[in-house]
Amino acid sequence: MFHDTRFRPEGCSETYDAITVGAGVLTQDLYKFADEVNRTVVGGYHQTIGFAGGFVLGGGHSILSPVFGLAVDRILQVKVVTPDGVYRTVNACQNPDLFFALRGGGGSAFGVVMESSHRTEPRMAIQAAALSFTSAGIDDLADWYALTVNQSYRWANEGWGGHISGASLIHVNPLLSNAEAERSMTPAADFVRARGGSVVVEELPSWWAFFDKYVLSAEAVRVFPAGVRALHLMIADPTMQGVGNEVATGSRLIPSELFSTESGRAQLSSLISETLPFASPYVRAATPWLFNDEPGATSITPAWRDAIWHFGLSVPIPYNATRMQREEIYRAMEEHNQRFRDLTPGSGAYFNEGDVYEPDHEQSFWGDNYPTLLEIKRKYDPDGLLDCWQCVGWKGPEDPLYQCYIKL
Ligand SMILES: Cc1cc2nc3c(=O)[nH]c(=O)nc-3n(C[C@H](O)[C@H](O)[C@H](O)COP(=O)(O)OP(=O)(O)OC[C@H]3O[C@@H](n4cnc5c(N)ncnc54)[C@H](O)[C@@H]3O)c2cc1C
Repeated sequence: MFHDTRFRPEGCSETYDAITVGAGVLTQDLYKFADEVNRTVVGGYHQTIGFAGGFVLGGGHSILSPVFGLAVDRILQVKVVTPDGVYRTVNACQNPDLFFALRGGGGSAFGVVMESSHRTEPRMAIQAAALSFTSAGIDDLADWYALTVNQSYRWANEGWGGHISGASLIHVNPLLSNAEAERSMTPAADFVRARGGSVVVEELPSWWAFFDKYVLSAEAVRVFPAGVRALHLMIADPTMQGVGNEVATGSRLIPSELFSTESGRAQLSSLISETLPFASPYVRAATPWLFNDEPGATSITPAWRDAIWHFGLSVPIPYNATRMQREEIYRAMEEHNQRFRDLTPGSGAYFNEGDVYEPDHEQSFWGDNYPTLLEIKRKYDPDGLLDCWQCVGWKGPEDPLYQCYIKL
């Protein structure tokens, strides 16, 4: 890793405050390094995400993204070995087509990234809101999600980003003062306090201070949210708590209209409520809602730009589930994911955290950018040397590489 206050992408004229990371550098080390040089790197919510690899190549959301954009919005330059064996420097001024593809086209498709350079922000104070309670059951949880649906449009406009999962919420805000943050969170705090829950709204001096306190410590005691316990398919097993569990999941980018209109909010809340007995929603309020992106610069689906939530469902798959049980879980998951697709026609999904069996995945992950991505793939990898499941230009589910995937 290195920090350069006047980083200039090769062949370009503008300079930026940037940090360059080698492939393999993990978020935890990067955030700490940035903090030591008084900067902030906008990145994901876990300590072991490979920043220069799959994370940024697929899009890269952060709970700071509502204000500062996605990782693909902030990347300045990539050094990559393409499948023809050429080591290329890629940025807006050199190989711009490949730069576009690497800004959202997904890992393992266009080349092997050796290093990448990213714009930084100054080290900044952050308001953190951490709310949690013990839910009295599914109805209570449904009321909680309805409340968060009702508040999320305002929260997004105020610069909040965060996660909502089970009977808990963790949000951050780099724009508000502590008093403003307290006021903004009042409806949620009142709900949680009425149930004897815990409410903290505090100012932390930096992203690293937040990450160290809330992400690193929480990872040590991670448990599945209460709703998951109601899963009828789940095999009772104490090892389902903790880390390293397999889950069936899915992603849908939920457009602003479902938060800004009364009928939209009612529809979304009602669908979440119906889904709760089956699966746990995992909300990432981590879309680039307030960020002014450069139109046409990134290859993620444009649906990201109008979304307030990247919404996922997750159902744990017990380690000892039989193949038939696994198929049953995935099939049931498909039905539930489909209902969120039906509610959001024309929207999309996040490649990095998508449904393994995403139908029409080209459209979902990349929207109208897909034909251009495919052209770029054919230019740099005409023989299809790099291939992976549902990647740009993949060989398809019948390829021998994918025989271990369940066929639904
Ligand atoms: C616990 C957890 C938390 C997460 N939190 C977030 C989050 O907050 N925000 C978010 O956006 N995503 C998040 N993700 C999803 C994450 O972005 C993806 O899992 C992503 O694929 C991770 O990339 P990786 O390089 O670390 O993983 P890997 O599994 O190593 O790689 C993923 C894909 O990228 C390819 N790849 C890896 N390195 C390179 C390289 N150098 N060059 C080319 N291709 C490469 C791999 O071949 C593979 O296809 C999270 C995932 C987990 C497990």
